[in-house]
Amino acid sequence: MAQMESLVYKCPNCAADIKFSAKEQKFHCEYCLSSFTQEEMKTIAAAQEQQAASRPKEEIAVDTEFAEQTSVYTCSSCGAQIMADDNTAATFCYYCHNPVILSGRVSGDFRPSYVLPFQLERDLAVQHFKDFVKKRWFLPKDFLSAAQQERITGLYVPFWVTDVDVNAEMDALGKKIRSWTSGNYEYTETREYAVARKAKVVLRGLPADGASHIDDDLMEAIEPFDYKAVKPFAMQYLSGFFAEKYDMNMSKMFPRIQQRAVQASDQLVRGSMVNYTTVSVTRSDIRVMGTTWEYMLLPVWFMTYKYKDKTYEFALNGQTGKFAGTPPLCMKRVLLFSGLLGLLVGAVSFLIGGFLTS
Ligand SMILES: [Zn+2]
Ligand SMILES: [Zn+2]
Repeated sequence: MAQMESLVYKCPNCAADIKFSAKEQKFHCEYCLSSFTQEEMKTIAAAQEQQAASRPKEEIAVDTEFAEQTSVYTCSSCGAQIMADDNTAATFCYYCHNPVILSGRVSGDFRPSYVLPFQLERDLAVQHFKDFVKKRWFLPKDFLSAAQQERITGLYVPFWVTDVDVNAEMDALGKKIRSWTSGNYEYTETREYAVARKAKVVLRGLPADGASHIDDDLMEAIEPFDYKAVKPFAMQYLSGFFAEKYDMNMSKMFPRIQQRAVQASDQLVRGSMVNYTTVSVTRSDIRVMGTTWEYMLLPVWFMTYKYKDKTYEFALNGQTGKFAGTPPLCMKRVLLFSGLLGLLVGAVSFLIGGFLTS
């Protein structure tokens, strides 16, 4: 057993070095907090080795072009780091609207592997925002002013797109209840079943954005992206757009990926327990056994709006046009509206009242 400790394994979920904890008798990743038994780790490591051996040795592309032609702008106000090609200068921060300063070059590590090019032109994106405003009465007046329209930014958001292997085990008590009447009697028969499920679930293309100050729920709300249109990264796609530099690495991202994967697997397994009147789960053990990662830029038209010291974020899927964001309520307008409504109700009851007394 002791020799196990000297072996260096990579965490199957975040690729960091994973350590053997003698106390727990388990491999434990201190970066993403995954843990595996020795038996599991052996199986995983063997599979990883086999996979690595069967894969043709790709030459590691050292893309000097990306590092040489990409400028990084830093917002001193919110800390956003915005990347752009040398022909596209950033002047303001897409997130907080403050001026940005050119802070240098990007390192090759931030070169994405893939990019999903924008499908939706700027005009169309602006039109989507206008359509949104049309249906909302209580937006502040300048919500989509000319200045505000100019701030709508075509932003490539850094995403980690993952394939996740999940082991799911679930035990449940299933009940089938049948009732019938015979003569003067009503009968109810309850049959109980021990339901057990063991499943290996493979989730493909589970995305999570790697920019900490972009709202996660907002990004989930504009899913899905169709990865069929994904291209290997090339500088030309960046032209005219901005990209946010990721600040969340795989280890930091893993808890979120894990949560989504567990939730999806849980639903899937529960969904397979059909044909029972009721099902109550007595034991559920769902674990992520491996995660493969791709660093990808996904296209988002982004707009933020500052209202009473709060930043409201809006996003439009740059591929599909799906829109998301919760707008601020202009209380003045709400009050005005309820005031009008009050007047109308007053007028109506006055009329009715008048009618009744006449
Ligand atoms: Zn890990
Ligand atoms: Zn900023």
